[in-house]
Amino acid sequence: MAKVKVATDWLDVCSGCHMSLLDIDERLVELLESVELTSSPITDLKHPPEEGVDVGILSGAVSNTHQEAVAKEMRERCKILIAIGDCAVFGGICAMRNLFDTEEVLRRAYVETESTDDEGMIPRSPELGKLLDRVKAVNEVVKVDVHVPGCPPPADAIWFVLTELLAGRIPVLVGDNLTYE
Ligand code: SF4
Repeated sequence: MAKVKVATDWLDVCSGCHMSLLDIDERLVELLESVELTSSPITDLKHPPEEGVDVGILSGAVSNTHQEAVAKEMRERCKILIAIGDCAVFGGICAMRNLFDTEEVLRRAYVETESTDDEGMIPRSPELGKLLDRVKAVNEVVKVDVHVPGCPPPADAIWFVLTELLAGRIPVLVGDNLTYE
């Protein structure tokens, strides 16, 4: 039987959600019997295959134009999109930036912060993603099919979601699998 293709990527994140994915530990071996992990920060391949994947997993909030493009590409190339972690589900800690004006945030980070000398400068290269006016949850940019909150979500919750999908069911999170911690 053909393996289920899964792609993952991260947006504005600390990478803790992908660490939680790896925390399913030896069950990863079992998972990889029926799953092909295509692009992922784990495989260091940056784009989901053009022919598409069955399941796309995004962690992190959408804070800049680059992340917006990554989220849209993942949506276009996957059948089922999962948002994992509070940052992806509702902006999480990244959305604290929304309390401030974007220029104020850039000035604080690149010019005024204590570790910056007098030469501090806000990067303006057109090659860099431009900060959005506000940080967004993934579902404010593209349609999300399954939300898995938590900071990070427990490995068992991620395992539950993946095994439910492999069984052909859309996972419904309840009990210990549904956490906002
Ligand atoms: S939800 Fe928590 S663990 Fe996941 S990327 Fe955001 S801050 Fe990190």
